[in-house]
Amino acid sequence: MEIVISDEIGFCSGVRLALKKLDELTEKEKNTKIYSIGEIIHNQDVIDHYKNKGVIIAKEIEDTKDGIGVVRAHGLPLSMVNKAKEEGYRIIDATCPFVRKISAIIEEEVKKGFKIFLVGEENHPEVIASSYDYKENITIIDYKSFNPENFDFKLNKCAIISQTTLEEEVFIEIAKFFLSHCYETHIYNTICPATKKRQRSAVEVAKNVDLMIVLGGKNSSNTKRLYEKCSREKKTLHLERITEIKPDILKNVKKVGITAGTSTPDWIIEEAIEFLKRY
Ligand code: SF4
Repeated sequence: MEIVISDEIGFCSGVRLALKKLDELTEKEKNTKIYSIGEIIHNQDVIDHYKNKGVIIAKEIEDTKDGIGVVRAHGLPLSMVNKAKEEGYRIIDATCPFVRKISAIIEEEVKKGFKIFLVGEENHPEVIASSYDYKENITIIDYKSFNPENFDFKLNKCAIISQTTLEEEVFIEIAKFFLSHCYETHIYNTICPATKKRQRSAVEVAKNVDLMIVLGGKNSSNTKRLYEKCSREKKTLHLERITEIKPDILKNVKKVGITAGTSTPDWIIEEAIEFLKRY
């Protein structure tokens, strides 16, 4: 069986940065309790790795008082982080810069008097973190259930912003609606470069194989988007580990493609390649 690996694979810059911060901290602060506030990234194997190193997952920032809290890559509301620091909490912010940029855009647009529409997954930590501080001025648009008929009013000034891991085509379609319904529309395509490149490269691979495999956490937003996009091209499986595959599915497959979410570690990809080489 031929195995085609997508060009864009492995951790993205935001994930690498967050894990580097956590690694440095666990190395330097051996006698201090280290907390990840929420899951540092959306991958269970990575989380287990850090749990084994003694990192504790805290639900709330307040749970980190007796140690050092690391803000997950998807972020926390800036007001919460700043308040905790003022109160004497030791906090390391490992939020991805592309996520933080969204908070900065929201703040700027709210100050200019624009109504904000944030398109993404309604309950995703990134969306919650980005919107929390200005929730009165923000409408979250769940990209899956967006219905133009629910927006039959004419708006004066609106800013439309995307979650970092959205599908670009989906965002553009929704943005077009706002362009035709608002007097002044500011459109921010804040989908991060890693997401865009990975989606394009995965689709190219999917077009040219018999079966596509997307490796990554079931709760990872960018992995789910990769699965959705590849599924439109070819039969696609979303697996956390290759060991979940039912071997029967590989019968008659001559060419298999592999892509992975931005939080999927290399060893899970290598494990999949080694497994598939046997067929
Ligand atoms: S997928 Fe994009 S936004 Fe998310 S952590 Fe990676 S670089 Fe940052």
